[in-house]
Amino acid sequence: MWGYLRNKMLHQQLSFDNLRKLIQSNEIEKLTYPEIVTLFRQEEGIQSFQPDHIALQDPRNNERVLFNGSRAIRPHDNTDRNSSNFVKKTEPQDCIICTGQTTRIIDLTQLSNGYTFINKNLYPIVYPMDYVEASRTTNRLNSGEKNAFGVHFLQWTSTFHELDWHNMPLGDLVVVMKRLAALEKTLLTTSSNEMPSLEQFGDSQGRSGFVSVIKNSGSPVGGSIEHGHQQIVFSNIMPRRIEENFRFRQERGMHFSDYVLRENPDQLLVREYDHAALLVPYYMRRPFDMLLLVKDTEKSYLHELSYGQLESVVAGWQDGIKLQKTILSLKGRPIAYNVLTHNGPGAGLYFEFLPFTQEDGGYEKLGLSVCQSNPFEASELLKQVIEG
Ligand SMILES: [Zn+2]
Repeated sequence: MWGYLRNKMLHQQLSFDNLRKLIQSNEIEKLTYPEIVTLFRQEEGIQSFQPDHIALQDPRNNERVLFNGSRAIRPHDNTDRNSSNFVKKTEPQDCIICTGQTTRIIDLTQLSNGYTFINKNLYPIVYPMDYVEASRTTNRLNSGEKNAFGVHFLQWTSTFHELDWHNMPLGDLVVVMKRLAALEKTLLTTSSNEMPSLEQFGDSQGRSGFVSVIKNSGSPVGGSIEHGHQQIVFSNIMPRRIEENFRFRQERGMHFSDYVLRENPDQLLVREYDHAALLVPYYMRRPFDMLLLVKDTEKSYLHELSYGQLESVVAGWQDGIKLQKTILSLKGRPIAYNVLTHNGPGAGLYFEFLPFTQEDGGYEKLGLSVCQSNPFEASELLKQVIEG
């Protein structure tokens, strides 16, 4: 079932000649956060799409809100508002990545076929801010408002347009994940003068700031470009869900991953790996939501994983993504899903797979989810699909 693209001709890609013109650095480990900030500031294209540098907080639940109006007018948005499901197929010659119309590259690694690389998001949700800018903005802020600053990257899984997590060899995907881990480590460990220390959250390794790794695929869930990619935001703002993991640990005395691994019914396990477990959480809010949990819950970041743990995580990502695509296709839905990384204090390390199986209505927005399936039915079907 998974091999449907294997025999397809891989003809469309970002050529090496175009790739070479974009290289600024080919190894993120050789840079520090202040040097990365300089590279962002030198990228002229991004300056016109800067966000507002402000984070507001909903006082009821500490949800953070960032502002950037320019994201609404992205010219390459993968959306067709005249189509019933808002999905537009990108024609090969129109892909901005395959044609090299993108920002300069800060990390580049060869794969068995093509390359994987990391560059800068042209429409960032955060952007660097210096002290003068910060104090000027502070003056117009009300209490409870904060400056928001940082950097926003994109990781392109492959230079080939058709390749992504569902159809790449696991060995290549381990390389892709290792590059994410290298970026995460560089950001967290070289930014102590620019980002808030994580010591207040119990981090004894001297790390600073918050790294948020996500994958959006499909325009109904925010995927604006079809060419497969991950997004990485590094900022001074702690996302609410990451704070919830920390609070969970404070209140219950265990990581959230420990809790799920212990309390979730065995029947909801979809697949077990040497160092990770893919399962449907018993509180499934939308049909076929899944969690991938690293079993060693003392690990809280990608860069802390051993090679074996990384292999389990990569196998789980591939299965999770293939399952989402297959289930959505079986249900006749647009192929759209999110993958979220829960790292940092309190989480352990886990990932959420959230296929767009159901629209949110008013009750869901009131915090009362009405799920159009139940976790036992969902995990049964997922197990049938994964076993082929
Ligand atoms: Zn492309």
